[in-house]
Amino acid sequence: MKIVTDIAIIGAGPCGLFAVFEAGLLKMRCHLIDYLAVPGGQLAEIYPKKPIYDIPGYPEILAKDLVDNLMKQIEPFHPGFTLGERAENIIKLEDSSFEITTNLNTTINAKVIAIAGGLGCFEPRKPEIENIEYYENRGIDYIIKDPIKYQNKRVIIAGGGDSALDWCIYLANLTSDLTLVHRRSEFRAAPESVSKIEQLVAEKKLKLYLSSELEKINGLHKLESITIKTKESEVILETDYLIPLFGLSPKLGPIANWGLNVDKNAIDVNTLDYSTNIDGIYAIGDINSYSGKLKLILCGFHEATLMMQSAYKIVNKGKKPSFKYTTVTGINSI
Ligand SMILES: Cc1cc2nc3c(=O)[nH]c(=O)nc-3n(C[C@H](O)[C@H](O)[C@H](O)COP(=O)(O)OP(=O)(O)OC[C@H]3O[C@@H](n4cnc5c(N)ncnc54)[C@H](O)[C@@H]3O)c2cc1C
Repeated sequence: MKIVTDIAIIGAGPCGLFAVFEAGLLKMRCHLIDYLAVPGGQLAEIYPKKPIYDIPGYPEILAKDLVDNLMKQIEPFHPGFTLGERAENIIKLEDSSFEITTNLNTTINAKVIAIAGGLGCFEPRKPEIENIEYYENRGIDYIIKDPIKYQNKRVIIAGGGDSALDWCIYLANLTSDLTLVHRRSEFRAAPESVSKIEQLVAEKKLKLYLSSELEKINGLHKLESITIKTKESEVILETDYLIPLFGLSPKLGPIANWGLNVDKNAIDVNTLDYSTNIDGIYAIGDINSYSGKLKLILCGFHEATLMMQSAYKIVNKGKKPSFKYTTVTGINSI
């Protein structure tokens, strides 16, 4: 699939999302790419249910609610999203625009790139089982991109955190057979999710193995069953899918290979407009580095605002943006 836009934003965390708003005010179209299956970056992946206290105008707001609000705020500008894909390569074309290719071969052509990649790509923590790579995309998934894939299938989820429990609750009425395997005797998740899991087990909608370790994956050409080690014995569970949800850890990933000045996993920028050493590529939010940098959401919002004023000149062939308050112009959708 080929997508054409004014500004490609790599990273749909809070700074990438707010950048769409600032671009939209200047009538520039945006397309966001994120390796995660949902927008929100660290707020969605690491701390959705934690309250944040330093967003101007909000004495307290849950991280998840801030992401929902940002999504609502950018709605009038109809951004495109490529989620669950990693921006892998960037090439500069003869007309000075860029072509970004993802790991799934989606291509996005953009006049400007805003890298809002935060701490980098969140990579799944994988269970230490022999040959696990062989079964990836042959029954083993680490990210749930589209839950419909698991409709009427036998699914085993492994893990004991919020993500594992939330997905069990979601999939309980979709799968033909659902099992949760967790290596500890207790969960590390919100108490209301734990109660819901107990209820699903009581209703026989979920089989639960606590204090049980994943031991072996079985199957000739694809996953057919897994062997788990419980306190008492080894058990073989037949299944179509195994989804280990052991959390994700960020890695800078492909960004390091794009010819940018990168130091200690962060991209050097000019604080005038957060431009990088490559004309047309900007870096905002946690991914950038400059003297006095603070990795805070509100700092990323400021960076996105200044960056878009500069990007406007590239998108509009040298024309300068005219500065106007939203109280005067309102929000005109594009
Ligand atoms: C526990 C915790 C509490 C925090 N509390 C606060 C707080 O109270 N106040 C505050 O201001 N800040 C807080 N922060 C920091 C705040 O979350 C970050 O400053 C903010 O998330 C940075 O936003 P971002 O958009 O720059 O990046 P991120 O939120 O990190 O999002 C970056 C996105 O880019 C994606 N990505 C990276 N590389 C690629 C690629 N090659 N292709 C596709 N996608 C890619 C990632 O998947 C990710 O989704 C906290 C952080 C943590 C961990």
